[in-house]
Amino acid sequence: MSLKGATFLESVLQTLKRAIELGGYPQEVYEILSRPQRIITVNIPVKMDNGKIQVFTGYRVQHNNALGPYKGGIRFHPEVTLDEDIALATVMTFKNALNGLPYGGGKGAIAVDPKKISKRELEELSRGYARALAPFIGPETDIPAPDVGTDPQIMAWMVDEYSKIAGRNVPGVFTAKPVILWGNPVREYSTGFGVAVWAREAAKKLWGGIEGKTVAVQGFGNVGYWGAYWLIKMGAKVVAVTDSKGGVYNPNGLDLTAVKAVKDKTGSVINYDAPGTRKVTNEEVLELPVDVLVPAALENVIHKGNANNIKAKLVVEGANGPTTADAEQVLHRKGIWVLPDLAANAGGVVMSYLEWVENLQWYFWDEEETRNRLERILLDTFNRVMIRWSKLGTDNVTIREAAYVEAVDRIYNAMKVRGWI
Ligand code: GLU
Repeated sequence: MSLKGATFLESVLQTLKRAIELGGYPQEVYEILSRPQRIITVNIPVKMDNGKIQVFTGYRVQHNNALGPYKGGIRFHPEVTLDEDIALATVMTFKNALNGLPYGGGKGAIAVDPKKISKRELEELSRGYARALAPFIGPETDIPAPDVGTDPQIMAWMVDEYSKIAGRNVPGVFTAKPVILWGNPVREYSTGFGVAVWAREAAKKLWGGIEGKTVAVQGFGNVGYWGAYWLIKMGAKVVAVTDSKGGVYNPNGLDLTAVKAVKDKTGSVINYDAPGTRKVTNEEVLELPVDVLVPAALENVIHKGNANNIKAKLVVEGANGPTTADAEQVLHRKGIWVLPDLAANAGGVVMSYLEWVENLQWYFWDEEETRNRLERILLDTFNRVMIRWSKLGTDNVTIREAAYVEAVDRIYNAMKVRGWI
């Protein structure tokens, strides 16, 4: 068990415990939600380009399905652990419940660095994973999607493999597919869009608006890049971005298009060079003198050791679990607002839901209509969380705890009417 994974899971369970106390729910709710309903481990043999067989270990954690089919991404990362996957699946149950989706929560993972294997090997591995999981997933059973290290191409291979096994086209079994294969153009940027919408709404309450506010973004993958893109479109000033190699800071604002071009050409934003711009590490980017901080990479980056150095007034969790529970208490005491993962990065899964609805009906909305539907759902969640937070008392309760109460309320009621409790 890696310390990182254990800490993330502990933070999630600590928040769950507190939410159950705050909401006055029975102890059985904790007994059920503190462990997954089912864990599937698969070992996938892949014939590598050198002719040798390599066996990859993967998981699918199906945490809870009281509200509907399990739903959540698949992570390809060299350091994934089962504990981390359990924590991520648990957060998905709360994220889906919080946003009013008819889903439970799940998450998959394979211990692999997708950048270190060839495209053919990646396809074999993705198809192997879909084959191994085929008996356990489906549009009304468990609907995976991308997460860190996976993308629409991988979803296309997986939906193709599943459809071959089923003997018919089954679009609704994976979401965030390429547009040509029953995807929706909004899904590409939906998580970043949601991050920006949540930041904008919170900024309205804190400062009257997001316009002119400075933003630092850790992580320049799908969430970090599109988060920065939409924040700029909404009038904010993105002054720093980093990826796994580090990044750049310019107090006067960065030219995002130019930074993206450098990333695409050289593999990292760190190679971006322009007057007034200096390099920053992944630790420094969190402590810059900015208004808004968007951790959009991996978990546990804001911890007890650096929480006191955070200068932003608003932290928007693009990643899942970037703030440990201890660190969050420190930030809360300092009056910093932390918009939690299950709210701030829910644009991805909410859009997955819309894509799934389209797939089940074989009918598609255009981009604008889809984005409006997505935004309406996000705004509804934002308003419910703010109301719940103020009812529970903003001094003693964090926004995450309020969001958890809101989520647990739906899950508890579903479990109750089902007769599980
Ligand atoms: N991996 C994303 C998340 O953590 C999206 C999941 C989905 O679309 O099912 O929310």
